[in-house]
Amino acid sequence: MQFATFNAVCDVELGDKVKTILNTITEITDIRTVHYLKDSRVEFEFELACEPGLWFKRNIFVYPAVEQSDREGVTEMSAGQLSTPEVAEAHLDGTLCDLCGGCIGEPVGHARLCSGCEN
Ligand SMILES: [Zn+2]
Repeated sequence: MQFATFNAVCDVELGDKVKTILNTITEITDIRTVHYLKDSRVEFEFELACEPGLWFKRNIFVYPAVEQSDREGVTEMSAGQLSTPEVAEAHLDGTLCDLCGGCIGEPVGHARLCSGCEN
């Protein structure tokens, strides 16, 4: 057994309102810390109220939920315009609807459509 210590500061807290890359305003319900022994790197992963039971990296949402650029109407993002590996993967594993990008739920290992797009 190896004794490990780390110091890490996270920029968000439980209960903070954040906006996901799908423009969903949601809340942080839990935060976990991943500490790598080899290089002492520390990463945070976040559980969001909109997707209970799933863990997301920090780049899946922005905080605070309302940014200056959004108030000015400059930044308009939709899932279809994003090409981050996380989003692509979420489409491929069935977390997100392959057509509209809406959250479906637990990954199933293949792309799928939400009930709204299937009909
Ligand atoms: Zn859909």
